[in-house]
Amino acid sequence: MSSSPQPSCPRCQRTLELSDIRFPLFQCPHCATKLQLSLRRLPLALAVTVVVSLLLSHMIGLKAYAAILWIPIFWLCLKFVPGLLVSAELKVYADVPPKVRGVIKRNLLLFLSFWFGLTLVGIVHAYVLGWGAFLLASKGDVWEITELWSLPLGLVNPAFRLSPEKSFVADLGILVANCYFNALALTLIFKFVHRMLQRNRVTQLSIGGNRVGDDDDDDL
Ligand SMILES: [Zn+2]
Repeated sequence: MSSSPQPSCPRCQRTLELSDIRFPLFQCPHCATKLQLSLRRLPLALAVTVVVSLLLSHMIGLKAYAAILWIPIFWLCLKFVPGLLVSAELKVYADVPPKVRGVIKRNLLLFLSFWFGLTLVGIVHAYVLGWGAFLLASKGDVWEITELWSLPLGLVNPAFRLSPEKSFVADLGILVANCYFNALALTLIFKFVHRMLQRNRVTQLSIGGNRVGDDDDDDL
């Protein structure tokens, strides 16, 4: 929190205490203007932190079986790399901000959420169960976990198989790449089921005699 300036209200210019700031919307205690923390820079700051922490891990030759050490490295980077993270911008809103997202943006967000979520689950799964299996010397379980997260690219190219002996950065790259394709498949399945459910609903409505005029949203 070193050099971040004290945030102030963009309308009345008076300083805001940290206790005044709430997420996502709050009022300026001085002039009652609606304010919102802008998280525009947050993804960038996090991405930079992850990249720097991975570079460091690569430089010290961190192996996948010692991947737990990446957490303190990431934590250190989080403290030092992005002054961006703390210097939250304040945006003024006269009214409730409009929050309409286009179809493409919504689908992209869905895909990115699946991608990020799967990667996170993969990391946690490999960390917790992988370590448990490793400590219990259960080779079969370690094999199962690495095989599971090596799909689908591991089937095509053995270079895309996870292994505790590979470097942490290499394994993470493989995991992220595999999760990309799995997230793509998940998104398509999700959209398909969503569409089917919507179609069913529309049919039911028209059987019920209601007029189905302008439809809600046509996704994809
Ligand atoms: Zn104010």
